Amino acid sequence: MSRPVPNPGILDIAPYTPGKTPVPEPGRKVFKLSANETPFGPSPKAIEAYKAVADHLEDYPEGTSRVLREAIGRAFGLDPDRIICGAGSDEILNLLAHTYLSQGDEAISTAHGFLVYPIATMANGAKNVVAPETEYTADVDAILARVTPRTKLVWLANPNNPTGTYLPFDQVKRLRAGLPGHVLLVLDAAYSDYVSRNDYELGIELVATTENTVMTHTFSKIHGLAALRIGWMFGPAHIVDAVNRIRGPFNVSTSAMKAAVAAIEDTAHVQMSKAHTEKWRNWLTEEIGKLGLKVTPSVANFVLIHFPTTKGKTAAEADVFLTKRGLVLRGLNNYGLPHALRMTIGTEEANRLVVEGLRDFMAGK
Ligand SMILES: *Cc1c(COP(=O)(O)O)cnc(C)c1O
Repeated sequence: MSRPVPNPGILDIAPYTPGKTPVPEPGRKVFKLSANETPFGPSPKAIEAYKAVADHLEDYPEGTSRVLREAIGRAFGLDPDRIICGAGSDEILNLLAHTYLSQGDEAISTAHGFLVYPIATMANGAKNVVAPETEYTADVDAILARVTPRTKLVWLANPNNPTGTYLPFDQVKRLRAGLPGHVLLVLDAAYSDYVSRNDYELGIELVATTENTVMTHTFSKIHGLAALRIGWMFGPAHIVDAVNRIRGPFNVSTSAMKAAVAAIEDTAHVQMSKAHTEKWRNWLTEEIGKLGLKVTPSVANFVLIHFPTTKGKTAAEADVFLTKRGLVLRGLNNYGLPHALRMTIGTEEANRLVVEGLRDFMAGK
């Protein structure tokens, strides 16, 4: 009997394996440190704005997310006409892939890049080309070496998830300069709010001065609105025009839009979260390092912890050990990092418990 056949590339995508449901020992409090969510939640003003929408759930959202584009424009000094909002930056990444990739095309991502990129690439029948990294960091020359006449798009998370590393802006500019003009460079700035390095930039200048670079951003991380699904992109006018033609007319809910406006205006909440993250990122890197475990220097709200391959000391065993204590980190088998765990920086209590747990684990307790 004949039956529907998925488009080319779809069945090459590995099926999504859901994260394990942690079962800690009785009496343990559970700390979810596996999805880079903020331990502080959103701004109380965002929660208020969200609740206010409940009075008018019968109304369709304003379809262009105008109030949010204007709020983002004010916060970042951008022209709201060159912003598109989406149901999470995931939607934006998929819209970009759908607009610019088709069968026979190639898109480049980095060895330990964000998993959404290869999925968005292959979902559109294009080939995912992987560029190796140097010290868990994107390597501009390795990316440029993989450009072929079929290359249409380059994905770059800066900072990158799950490694926590970043490319200084001069390197990003060198990458752009080395790519052919028709290749779209997508700069994913999901973690930019956590970076405090003077050689880092989101890429706004590149987007504003070229015709082939876009920057995406999200409200899921420092703004704590992951449940609402809200992200955005800033791009050249011709790209905004093309993507808007396939974007769903009501892709962003009113509640997401209104909560995001309140969140972006609460700069004190963002500053508090950033300062906490920086303090505990330094502390965790140092304390975990003292246990003989390597931590990749991170500029984001998580750290990548490397484990030995000796039996009794592996990442998989550490994962089981910590989970029993209610400390849920993220195993990275599907990111090609089976010997590492990613830990989202949590509350002081959670951070101290992880270090204590790792100390006991390494001591063979
Ligand atoms: C978390 C994350 C995002 C955000 O995705 P949303 O769909 O906006 O929640 C984007 N890119 C990277 C690299 C991330 O880790």
